[in-house]
Amino acid sequence: MPTRAGTPYVYDFADGDRTMADLLGGKGAGLAEMTRIGLPVPPGFTITTHACREFLATGAAPPALAAEVVAHLSALEQRMGRRLGDPHDPLLLAVRSGARHSMPGMMETILDIGLNDTSVQGLAKSTGREHFAWDSYRRLIEMFGTTVLGIDGARFTAAHAARPDLADLPLLVREFQSIVRDATGVDFPQDPAVQLDMAVRAVFASWNGDRARLYRRRERICDSLGTAVNIQAMVFGNLGPDSGTGVAFTRDPATGLPGIYGDYLPDAQGEDVVSGAHNAVPLSELERLDPLAYTRLRDLLRILEDHYRDLCDVEFTIERGRLWMLQTRIGKRTAQAAFLIAAQLADEGLISWDEAVLRVSGQQLAQLLFPRFDSEAAGTALARGVPASPGAAVGAAVFDSAEAVRRAAAGQTVVLVRRETTPDDLPGMIAARAVLTSRGGKTSHAAVVARGMGRTCVCGAEELTVDAAARRFTTATGDVINEGTVISVDGFTGTVHRGSLPLVQSTVMDYFETGQRAPGLVDAVAKIMEHGDRVRRLGVRANADTPQDAARARRFGASGIGLCRTEHMFLGERRPLIEAVILARDDDERARALNLLLPLQRADFIAILAAMDGLPVIIRLIDPPLHEFLPDRTELAVRVARTEAAGRTPDPHDLELLAAVERTHEQNPMLGLRGVRLGLLVPGLVAMQVRAVAEAVAERRRAGGNPQAEIMVPLTVTSGELLAVRAETEQILREVSEATGTDVRCPIGTMIELPRAALTAGALARFADFFSFGTNDLTQTTWGLSRDDAEASFLPAYLDRGLLTGSPFESLDPDGVGRLVRIAVDEGRATRPRLTTGVCGEHGGDPASVHFFHQAGLDYVSCSPYRVPVARLEAGRAALTTVSSKGAELSGAVGDC
Ligand code: ADP
Ligand code: MG
Ligand code: MG
Repeated sequence: MPTRAGTPYVYDFADGDRTMADLLGGKGAGLAEMTRIGLPVPPGFTITTHACREFLATGAAPPALAAEVVAHLSALEQRMGRRLGDPHDPLLLAVRSGARHSMPGMMETILDIGLNDTSVQGLAKSTGREHFAWDSYRRLIEMFGTTVLGIDGARFTAAHAARPDLADLPLLVREFQSIVRDATGVDFPQDPAVQLDMAVRAVFASWNGDRARLYRRRERICDSLGTAVNIQAMVFGNLGPDSGTGVAFTRDPATGLPGIYGDYLPDAQGEDVVSGAHNAVPLSELERLDPLAYTRLRDLLRILEDHYRDLCDVEFTIERGRLWMLQTRIGKRTAQAAFLIAAQLADEGLISWDEAVLRVSGQQLAQLLFPRFDSEAAGTALARGVPASPGAAVGAAVFDSAEAVRRAAAGQTVVLVRRETTPDDLPGMIAARAVLTSRGGKTSHAAVVARGMGRTCVCGAEELTVDAAARRFTTATGDVINEGTVISVDGFTGTVHRGSLPLVQSTVMDYFETGQRAPGLVDAVAKIMEHGDRVRRLGVRANADTPQDAARARRFGASGIGLCRTEHMFLGERRPLIEAVILARDDDERARALNLLLPLQRADFIAILAAMDGLPVIIRLIDPPLHEFLPDRTELAVRVARTEAAGRTPDPHDLELLAAVERTHEQNPMLGLRGVRLGLLVPGLVAMQVRAVAEAVAERRRAGGNPQAEIMVPLTVTSGELLAVRAETEQILREVSEATGTDVRCPIGTMIELPRAALTAGALARFADFFSFGTNDLTQTTWGLSRDDAEASFLPAYLDRGLLTGSPFESLDPDGVGRLVRIAVDEGRATRPRLTTGVCGEHGGDPASVHFFHQAGLDYVSCSPYRVPVARLEAGRAALTTVSSKGAELSGAVGDC
């Protein structure tokens, strides 16, 4: 993406605003916005993501960048009245990464740039604090050494631990300098301009660090965006007891309750709080320590929340009683907090209900449907910590990231237990069901990252002594929990228990089951769902094969059944009946066998139509290949062979079955005799199923019901197939209408699940009253992938290598499969303007896919009953999503970015 001539690579904080996050990154845009509305932000400037993209593409910074940085730097020096590297009163700089999407702790930030052997003396004099100056220098060499020069941080930590005395700081700095020389062969750069230049490049390069890449894959952030770099005057929270640093939220991000919330660390600099490595104190402590600064902070948080009209989080520093804002963004929050805050803000009139619906997501709703631990059965807890991210997780305790990954890959569920987490623990956090730490608050690394990815997290369980080397933790009462012991982590209450606790249903699930409202969370969910239903255009139906599922789907708000599979009705004790159909030697025998199935199918349909009375029920004719109804080929062959080997005569039924299995065996059953082909080639099958539907409809009518059955033909490729099945179907419907004296004719439609069907939809629509996209088969056949094989083998490797951003079976591929959907909808409607269109693959319950189907103009989506609330909410959000934010909504979808 080349720049138009004259587009700058560098923006002063005063020249940007919140809308420029693509260019300035989230942090840069936030700093600019706070500067613009007059909040106290240390001055600085931002190098754009565009410069980073050029750096990543070419390996070198764009040529024009250096001069722009020099110009902005000298303006900054003028403004501050200090020069970078000045021997007497040096200006120090923070060089801070900041991408479009927040990636907490995933990239690099280097503080105190500008210190060297001379300016450290100047800093000591100008601040009157010798230790502070040398400590800042030591921090610079450490941060620079690890992040810019890639030196193992443990070397600095060890040297520091061996020399804890403040008076030894100058000596420690010398030692740090020799570590740098030893590891890299060159001296720590004394020239501040060189420090700055190297730091900027390191931040650019950190975009492609392992942690950052893993995080992006997980969060489905595009790899090509790049990061901005913010260069900012330093302020110091480590200048004594009247200084400090902290993080704050305008509301509680875990519970959603109003009132400011955060952690504060007196006399500390920079990353000390965020890393969770020091135990910070709650903000209420700041109120005691420095009431003026506290009040000022509270006022600024109010201003920010009113300005952004949402929960904000901030990083701040107090330098000798003076408050500085260092960062703000829309705060991450738990699913529960998301619903509560959105409803609160809408109730307060700060946002509209439309906006409230857009502030929550189907994924968050899905989290609220999970069960919780039964508190009655809990007994005494092993420990109690901060409930940082909700959920009820059970798993084996493990004590490092690698072990978590190993065990999870072997199919075990695990809980990652650490003293505190660092960005290196990310793979383990992803692999674990829950994260438990003994140190750090709600804003520690563990808490922030776990919340962001919906992992259960309890942090700061201080009674626990975590010994990662010995692979165990010890409780306050001396209980020892070794690696592999199963524990339960309650992210709602913050408690940890031995063993696996029983679960109870969530209150939100209760609400969907019963419609019963309750104050608080349930009320918030209900109001948002109701508004979503009011604004959505897309219908939501369910895939349901049993009356129970149908009834549940209806309670959850489904307006019909989009897919009722009939083949499940042939399994279990009815299997011998379908076996008889397959084994039949002639039409008579087959007709007799089908006749036995007829009343059973009819009874199934009566019950389902009753559960969905008044709403459409799409019944799909039999779809899977016949061998699926027969015993396993190898098993059968072995049984016959064994019997023969033992000198006995094999069971004649077994022999008959084996012959049938051999006859129906196919190399690629997925592409073989199935779907409509089966209906056309096995005489009487379609007729029996249609008759069962038709008689069920007649029966329901007689009973005073309002059945709305529709018949769907699977796996159609040609209009000839559809015409043939349609003719047979209409014939049976006529017969049953005459025999019962009630008109049982109903809509007849087809699934669109093969590329040819999509591409010739105009012709198919001549014989179809409706289309239903079977996006699972359509994805398999469009991509030439078998879902099971891909997911079991190479798909993970593709995701790992970034060849795909997600599985096309989870989120519909908008460019390929989606294109076929659009073509089929357009051409189908051109033939038949009143054609009903829907989707019945599991994609129908996937948030990103629901947005696609809304945009493609489908009439409804159909998904499993439990996904119905999620699909309803996302359908509402899709209707409210403006064209400009379309890209963002679909960024979760599969494909290249
Ligand atoms: P991250 O994206 O990992 O949060 P930041 O760029 O926000 O990284 O930097 C981490 C910490 O460094 C901040 O929380 C803040 O405390 C400290 N910091 C950043 N900029 C400055 C600055 N100009 N002066 C003092 N401290 C700073
Ligand atoms: Mg930060
Ligand atoms: Mg299919």
